[in-house]
Amino acid sequence: MPTSTVQTIPGASLAIDRKARANVPASIQNTRPVSVRILDFNDVVIPMEPEDAMLEAARCVHCPDPAPCVVACPAHNDIPSAMWLIEQGRYVEAAQLYRETSSLPEICSRVCPHEQLCQGSCTLQKSLATIQTGALEAFVTSYARELAGTTIPVGEPTGKRVAIVGAGPAGLSCADQLVQMGHQVVVFESKPTGGGLLVYGIPNFKLPKEIVSAKISDLERVGVEFVYNAYIGQTRTIDDLFNDGFEAVFVGVGTLIDSPMDVPGEELPGVYKATEFLMRANTPLEQLPPELRSRPQVGKKIAVIGGGDTASDCLRTAPRMGAEQVICLYRRTEREMPGGRHDRELAKEEGAQYQFLTQPVKFHPGEDGRVAQAECIRMVLGEPDAKGRRKPVPVEGSNFIVEVDTVVKALGYWPDPIIGKTTPGLETHDWGLITVKDKTTGATTRPGVFAGGDDVTGPDMVVTAMVAGRKAAAGIDNYLKEKK
Ligand SMILES: Cc1cc2nc3c(=O)[nH]c(=O)nc-3n(C[C@H](O)[C@H](O)[C@H](O)COP(=O)(O)OP(=O)(O)OC[C@H]3O[C@@H](n4cnc5c(N)ncnc54)[C@H](O)[C@@H]3O)c2cc1C
Repeated sequence: MPTSTVQTIPGASLAIDRKARANVPASIQNTRPVSVRILDFNDVVIPMEPEDAMLEAARCVHCPDPAPCVVACPAHNDIPSAMWLIEQGRYVEAAQLYRETSSLPEICSRVCPHEQLCQGSCTLQKSLATIQTGALEAFVTSYARELAGTTIPVGEPTGKRVAIVGAGPAGLSCADQLVQMGHQVVVFESKPTGGGLLVYGIPNFKLPKEIVSAKISDLERVGVEFVYNAYIGQTRTIDDLFNDGFEAVFVGVGTLIDSPMDVPGEELPGVYKATEFLMRANTPLEQLPPELRSRPQVGKKIAVIGGGDTASDCLRTAPRMGAEQVICLYRRTEREMPGGRHDRELAKEEGAQYQFLTQPVKFHPGEDGRVAQAECIRMVLGEPDAKGRRKPVPVEGSNFIVEVDTVVKALGYWPDPIIGKTTPGLETHDWGLITVKDKTTGATTRPGVFAGGDDVTGPDMVVTAMVAGRKAAAGIDNYLKEKK
């Protein structure tokens, strides 16, 4: 088992009666009834009760080291030890244990695709229900925050100033670690508030925004300064930041440009880009850039195009905005969908229908000039591409019409090239992703500039961005020490 400062199981797996543990009945994750939850944007999950948490954690059979759940977690959270603490009711210690390897446990516990990571690797899946690792992490971290608050331990001041560009999961986690190392941190964020896609993408019914603002307040309390509406590359460059006395810069600007479809009619009124749709539907208007401070106009029949997490979020946002018929158009089959299965199941529960092997090729306007029809073509799956995914191939002459009054394009994201273009010596590739020459530190080709998160990997996950921010903080700390 990984080492930790919190007491772990004495005798490790030897003392565990696995049969007895397997007989503890599994808890179920409670969600609010569909008919009620689609009327608002509040959290759909009903938090665990302390007694249920103890019982659920007691089901952990404590696999021999290395436990598959620890290996599958990108942060390598010491999940078995946390389960051991939770089953004894030592919730605050369990929360502390998660904080040793994660800067955003309240957030990752709610948004990670657990079924593909820790929970998906739980050995109980062979015969029994897997442990609800995410729900337990969410329970203890919220419990500990309510009971004892959360304090970030600040390191001995080093007198070094570090700039962070972008206040998404990567930037926030980098800041969280750098203050613990004693550095002075200023975060420059182009939007009116911090959180990145945690606020301007992932809907409130999945991740309540106050959880993100609580993390930002934690950082502010220990002296991290946030400068909002600062679009680096335009308002100031990275060179300007060095000239202002920052000794290192972390770039965590994500990939926020929606991929276009390049089909006729995609500029019609009623056709939205996913990010704009989600931001305008879900975010308090005062937290939006001024030009986006109005709700999207959603009709009764909405089509969402795409198969990722963003598509699931749009499908689930639509009924909350008043849509009565919600359909997902996806060019491959469900098997190839990149989005998390759990989110898709929730979308189905909330009424989303799926039409697979379907590709819109044109949007037609109605008499009022708004989109009224999506002209689609049928697809079949052809040979696998370079990544082994079977390529969708259009069936000639198979065009058909889907009646719609609103369309949301959730087709993926591209990086914003502005940082690469305005930073001499910073190498980029693939339309603007930042080249990292050392993956363990996030060091880029420009000395003193580090990067991590989606702007390096392309669109990925909150937990991977969080881990990248932490690794870069360690890289920056070493760089500053060596520089001295
Ligand atoms: C709709 C949607 C739903 C998702 N759902 C999930 C999910 O359920 N689970 C999951 O694990 N992942 C999910 N993801 C992916 C996840 O949100 C991202 O992988 C993660 O947020 C990446 O973190 P990041 O810090 O690299 O970038 P971001 O979160 O994109 O943050 C980048 C920040 O940098 C700012 N910025 C950009 N350019 C500049 C600049 N030039 N100057 C200053 N600031 C700048 C941006 O405004 C933003 O605040 C989802 C993504 C989307 C789009």
